[in-house]
Amino acid sequence: MTEHALQSVMIFLTGLIFGSFFNVCIFRIPSKRSLMFPNSFCPECKKPIKWYDNIPLLGYVLLAGKCRSCGKPISVRYPLVEALTGILFLLLFLQFGVSYIFLRGVVLAGFLVVIGFIDFDTQYIYEVTTIPLVLAGLFLSLLPGGNPWDSLLGTITGAGILYVIGMISIILFKKEGMGGGDVYLAGAIGAFLGWKGAVSMLFLSFIIGAVVSIVLIGLKILDRKSMIPFGPYIAASALAVFFFGDKLIYLVMPLLPRN
Ligand SMILES: [Zn+2]
Repeated sequence: MTEHALQSVMIFLTGLIFGSFFNVCIFRIPSKRSLMFPNSFCPECKKPIKWYDNIPLLGYVLLAGKCRSCGKPISVRYPLVEALTGILFLLLFLQFGVSYIFLRGVVLAGFLVVIGFIDFDTQYIYEVTTIPLVLAGLFLSLLPGGNPWDSLLGTITGAGILYVIGMISIILFKKEGMGGGDVYLAGAIGAFLGWKGAVSMLFLSFIIGAVVSIVLIGLKILDRKSMIPFGPYIAASALAVFFFGDKLIYLVMPLLPRN
């Protein structure tokens, strides 16, 4: 095996392990429980899960998706989140190598997996997830290769745009169009993408959100009054902008200044 292939495998496996921890975060943060204690247990029978059954992906496969103690099915979400995290880490490595950008990418991707799934489940974005992400983005921008000014501007732009849209929505429609959590999240992502990235990320997430909503309403999976969490669209758009950078930014926002 070449060194690059070996590194790729190691990064993917590391992603799986982080994904396993993200499952714990997704499951416990909304109920404000500790991330460290107790060890993982089956949500059905509450029996602790043996370490060998808790191996990312493999545990699920070997158990054929059922709890060893009670035989109840284990949600496919667990291996899905693990696989998704592994794939994201791997793609970041293949795109950026082991580099400063890769480090920023895995931090951003990790938080977005947790925030996106929690928002999908609960329609809520917790400040315990977004505030550390803002701080991480601003801190990482201070390292060599970063751009602290653009990072700060990105935070203000991302949060500012959603804050203003939220205000307009309250004035025009007398209802809250944007949750406060979305404002924090957009600000946090702006710290990673800079101001142009923040603008195009938001534009892209509105387009994806609108298309998906129209399709789901058309298929009668949702009705017009359903609350649709916006966080997963923001997360997906942010990762797309991070991966493709200027190419995607100028594709969705051709009028942004070039420098
Ligand atoms: Zn069980």
